[in-house]
This record gives sequence, C-alpha cells and structure tokens, in this order.
Amino acid sequence: MCASFPTPPFGRPTYAVIDLDAITGNVQATLRHVSDGVSLMAVVKGNAYGHGGPIVAKTAVEAGASALGVATVDEGLEIREYGLTAPILVLGPIARREIGTALRADLSLAVGSLAEAEAIAAAASAHPLGQPRIHIKLDSGMHRYGATVEEVVAICRFVHETDRLLLAGLFTHFAAADGPDLSFTDRQADLLRVAVRRLREEGITPEVVHAANSAALLRSRDYDFDLVRLGVSLYGIAPDESVRLAPGMRPALTVMTELTRIHHLEPGDTVGYGCTYRAESRERVGLVPIGYADGLWRSLSHKAWMGKDGVRLPLRGRICMDQTVINLAEGVSARVGDPVAVMGAATESGAGSLAEIAGLIGTIPYEIATGIGARVPRWYLRDGEYVALMRNGRVVPLDDRAEIEASQPV
Ligand SMILES: *Cc1c(COP(=O)(O)O)cnc(C)c1O
Repeated sequence: MCASFPTPPFGRPTYAVIDLDAITGNVQATLRHVSDGVSLMAVVKGNAYGHGGPIVAKTAVEAGASALGVATVDEGLEIREYGLTAPILVLGPIARREIGTALRADLSLAVGSLAEAEAIAAAASAHPLGQPRIHIKLDSGMHRYGATVEEVVAICRFVHETDRLLLAGLFTHFAAADGPDLSFTDRQADLLRVAVRRLREEGITPEVVHAANSAALLRSRDYDFDLVRLGVSLYGIAPDESVRLAPGMRPALTVMTELTRIHHLEPGDTVGYGCTYRAESRERVGLVPIGYADGLWRSLSHKAWMGKDGVRLPLRGRICMDQTVINLAEGVSARVGDPVAVMGAATESGAGSLAEIAGLIGTIPYEIATGIGARVPRWYLRDGEYVALMRNGRVVPLDDRAEIEASQPV
C-alpha cells in the first residue's frame, strides 16, 4: 500500500505530514501510563523535534499536557505569539539580556546558580512583571547544567528571602535512562530526593518536582515525581531501541516527496556529483526534489532508500542540496507526480522509520527529526484531512483562497 496521505492543495512537492491524532494519542497514552496524579510537560524544543512548535504545542495542551518545555526564549515566544497561555518552561540556560523578554512573555525560567536567580530577581524589580516563575535545576550527575544540592539550598533561601521569585519547580535531568542499566538513573533520582528533603527541612516546598524524560517514564514509575517531561515519545519515537513505547503510542511524522522526472540509465551511466553511482545494466530511475537542505543528510547517500507502494527504492548517487535520484525497479508503478515516502511513520509504503534511517549513519532519530529543513512545509492531519500548515516557520491559514487560486495551473 502507498502512504495514503491526501495531496496537499497547494505548495511544494516535498513536505512533511504530521498526524495530530498521533500526537493527541501519545499524550493520552502517557497520562494513562504514568502514576495517578502525575502531570505532563510536552517538550516542544527544536521546533517540536522538527514537527513544528506552535501547532504541536497546542495539540499537546488540548490533549492534556499541563505545561510546555522549550530550549530557547525564542521558541517560547513563538508559542506565545500563536496564542497559547499554558505554562512554558525554558529548560536550559539563557543569556542575561534575554531575561526581560522572557519574563514579559510569561515564560518560566530554569535556574542553575545563585547568580542566575539574582539576575532574574533584579530584572523583575526593574520591570513590574509580576512574580517570575523559576524551576531550579539540580545537576544530579549529567554535569551539564544545574546546581549542586548545597547550591540548590542556597538558591532556595535567596528565593525565600527576596520574595520576588516564585519557586515553581525543582528538577533534574537523567543522563542514562535510555540505556538498559538504570543504576545511574537511580542514583540521580536519589539525589533529587535528598534535595527535596533538605528543602523541606528549611520549610521550602517547590510546587512541582520533576525528572523523567521519555526513557525514564517509559521504563519505570519510580521516576515520575509530580510531572514527567515527554519529549521524543510525544512524537511516537522510542528514545532507544531497547525502550518500548507505551500501548497506543505511534509515530506522527512522515516526510513525503513526489516524482518529478522518470528516466533510464544505460549501462555505464553515472548519477550525480562525483559520478559515484554507475549503472551496470539498463535501469529506470526517478528524480525527487529533496536534498540535504531539507534534512536528507548527505551521508545517507548510497545507504538509504525511499518507499512507494510497499517497495524500497534505493538512492542512486550522492544526495544533492535539493535533489536526489532513486531507483525505480521495473514493476513499481511510477508516473510523474506520484507520491514517494522519504522516511517516517508511513513504513507500510516501504520507507524507513526515523530510527532506521538514523541507524544507517550512526545517529539517533532525534537528530534526523530536528534536522528536517525549515523550508519543508509541515502539513497537519486531523481525521485524515489537512487542518493546518506551517511554512517557513509561519502558520498559513488553509482557507486562504488567494493562495489556492494562485496555485492553480495556468
Ligand atoms: C529534551 C529534554 C527532555 C525530553 O527528553 P526526551 O528524551 O526527548 O524525552 C526532558 N528534559 C530536558 C531537560 C530536556 O532537555
């Protein structure tokens, strides 16, 4: 069977299809999977792992996520500009010069040192912005961002004394929850519990304590605390081959393209830059308008394949910036304009999953998903129909008559 997506009503023949029903289902499946009363932060950093930040954020909130996680202030602003009012936490460090912008947009900020807490408190008193919401980050073993237990206590005392900041959360991040051995994760969770106890002794209670990423929440309920931060599995992708998704979870995104030329190679003909592929016999090939600027990594040349009607179509020659040649075995029905699945959810079409494609070049599906180019339009499906479009980072109204009429063949 071919990937049964409707052809988009206008626009580029290379596009990503995001099934919002899958995103909704993945949020609901996670809420069923975690302990009772645990809430969910949908992590939508990296343009929602390439799926398109604002629309995925809105879908996740409507499905039951109570907060959103981003990596940069700009990502938070993009979601606010789309009209969402849910709490948004910037998970990592930001520049001092961004604090005012972040607070004006009502973003919650992670704090990894006393100096950061002081800078936020100073910014808050310079502008009457209400009480900024902060989540103190404990470095429990990742040794990336965050404070030691002693520093966490000192930051909390400062917050308590100044009364200018709201202690919305205390959190940490796991370094090795995706591997089979959870002993390091257990030690990190224990250190978070130590920090919580130390604060309780001081009479300080953060609103929520959180630690689990997708791998941790899927592996064990021991790491749930008050809230889980669902990242890669929000998109129906397993954090590692060894981690099983919860029942009801499925991938949301497929990258699609269309055949724009069908031609034949004669024996000895070569394909593309560097003439790295040479046909041994007469061979039918097709051209698809997708390349490494779209996120089809050049290192996938000679390794990856695309899918059509359940058949794998191996790549021929080097992937270019904007175009790629694929084999069209005789017997595959192929006409110019036919859809071809590049990678993602539509594996029934013969395409590789993001994990399979990542594996070909020794990386993880996270990197393939976030690498999908900004110029690839994202079409959003609900009940099999397109309900939204993001193009060049902007949400485009689908009932834009001018757009549809302009796209009619002349
Ligand atoms: C990215 C991120 C997550 C989500 O991780 P996944 O493995 O994608 O679930 C959670 N917490 C923090 C701090 C992160 O940076």
